[in-house]
This record gives sequence, structure tokens and C-alpha cells, in this order.
Amino acid sequence: RAKQSGRNAYRYYSEEMNLHTSERLRLEEALRDAIRHDQLSLHYQPKVDMLSRRITGMEALLRWNHPALGSVPPQRFIPLAEETGLIHAIGKWAIRAACIQNRLWQDANATRLKVAVNLSPLQMSDDNLIADIREILDDTALDPAWLELEITESTVMANPDKAIVLLKSLRDIGISVAIDDFGIGYSSLAYLKRFPIQAVKIDRSFVQGVPQDHGDAAITKAIIGLAHSLECTVIAEGAETQQQVDFLHEHECDTVQGYFFSAPVNADRFGELLRMEMRMPVH
Ligand code: C2E
Ligand code: MG
Ligand code: MG
Ligand code: MG
Repeated sequence: RAKQSGRNAYRYYSEEMNLHTSERLRLEEALRDAIRHDQLSLHYQPKVDMLSRRITGMEALLRWNHPALGSVPPQRFIPLAEETGLIHAIGKWAIRAACIQNRLWQDANATRLKVAVNLSPLQMSDDNLIADIREILDDTALDPAWLELEITESTVMANPDKAIVLLKSLRDIGISVAIDDFGIGYSSLAYLKRFPIQAVKIDRSFVQGVPQDHGDAAITKAIIGLAHSLECTVIAEGAETQQQVDFLHEHECDTVQGYFFSAPVNADRFGELLRMEMRMPVH
């Protein structure tokens, strides 16, 4: 529109908007080179089993460290990656990096952990996704049982019929799927029943309200009950306090993830967490 109405159209753009646009372009260009320049990494946050109090898995979370821009938060660069289509390459990179790292830990430790990688809604419509995942599992020789994908409730509910097809293909490969940020979307229970999923992650916003907030406590309990009746594992995300963990344990939540146990940490530090835990007595 600006081009059509000629040069004068530029004055319709506010100073602020120009700034915004140029900064965005700069960020976009930088993101294009991020993989090639080795600026992306994964941090890992432990998922702790409530009964054994052992780490049984971890969520891989993307980090982007740019030499000049510093550390750019995922809330900022994931949407940009999605708008530019870069998410396909970045998302694939994340799955591969997580599988390579998990394989290294498996070779170094006696324990086997399930690594979870987040999947963008756009990757769900990627025709190559299944083939890419198969190739990654092949290359890394990681047993698919040790890979999980986290897909948000709003993503699957945006196109439930398409989601079911994808979820079935993932199940056929032997990968498990967790529904992320569960409870804030509007899942139809009828659909939920049809989704071949293995885990449900209670959204942080509810977890952070327990035990004081009656509404959050009621919703958390309801999600745990619902998930169990669908034979799914329940993971609570964002637990920061002892009281929250106690509440979750008491109400039979299977697994807890959150700052209370550990923030996401880089691979070296996560390896230390695992070594430290191996020296701890079993509960
Ligand atoms: P998510 O998948 O829901 O990840 C959980 C987020 O909660 C992470 O933020 C994590 O650091 C944060 N968190 C964990 N425990 C606590 C806690 O106790 N308190 C609080 N306040 N926060 C906690 P992070 O790492 O900034 O990631 C934000 C989002 O970015 C993720 O939300 C996910 O949607 C997206 N993301 C991250 N990595 C990837 C990726 O590889 N691919 C895609 N598509 N999205 C990703
Ligand atoms: Mg997640
Ligand atoms: Mg989440
Ligand atoms: Mg979340």
C-alpha cells in the first residue's frame, strides 16, 4: 500500500513504527544466520517423578545467544521464526540436537530419560515432519521411546482432525506426545478422547495458584482426574514452591517440572544434575 501511493506515503508511518520495523528486520536477518553461526542451543529442565523423586525426563528449551544482541528470549524469536518460516529449520535443529544430547547421556549414564521438544503449530503442517523425525532417530540411533513432542492444546484444537492424523503417525513411529499448556484452551472432551496422546501438561497459570486459589486448585484436580481417566500421564509445569509440589503430590500428579526443582540449565549443568542425583539414595 505504501508503494502504490508513492513516496509521500512514508509520512504515514510513525517514527515508532519505522524503528519497530527496522529492528524487526535486523532481528530477522540475525535469526537467519543463527543456526549456521552456532548461536542456538538447548537448555534442559528436569521433570521429576513424584513417587521416586527422580528425574525421569526433561524439556528441551531453545536459547538464542547473539554476539551483539545478547540473549534473545524464545517469546521473542519463536514468533519471528514462525512468521518467516525459519521455524522449520530451527524446529528440526532442536529435535536433532535434543536427540543427540539424549543419546550422549544414555551412553554416559545408566538412567534413560525422555527428552521433550516443543513443536510449533507450523511444523504440524509440515509434510516432511514425519520423514525428518525418522531420519533424526535413524542418524542418532535414539530409541523413539525416549523422545516426546510437546504440542499446545490450542495448536491441536485449531485443527483437531488434522492433529489426529499427525498424532497417529507420531504414535506409529513410537514417539509420545504431551499436550502443552493444557487448560487454557477450549478442548472438546470428545476430541481429547480421540487424540492418541500420552501426557497432559497442566498450564503454569493454574499450578502457580495452588493451593490457595480455590479455582486453580479445582481446575488442577480436575485436569489430573481427566488425564488419568484417559490413561494419560500428568505433568505440572511451573511449580516454584514446596506447597505447590506437596499439593500436586497429594492429588496424584505424576510428574512435576518447575523452578522448585530447577530452572532450565545448559547441557553441562544438566549432566551435573544427573551425576549428583545418581549419588543420592533412592526415596
Ligand atoms: P513452554 O513449552 O510452555 O515452556 C515452559 C516455559 O516455562 C519455559 O520458558 C520455562 O523456562 C518456563 N518455566 C519453567 N518452570 C518455570 C517456573 O517454575 N516458573 C516460571 N515462571 N517459568 C517456568 P522459556 O524457556 O522462556 O520458553 C517459552 C516458550 O517458548 C515455551 O513455552 C515454548 O512455547 C517456546 N519454545 C521454547 N523452545 C522451543 C522450541 O524448541 N520450539 C518451539 N516451537 N517453541 C519453543
Ligand atoms: Mg513445552
Ligand atoms: Mg508449557
Ligand atoms: Mg507455557
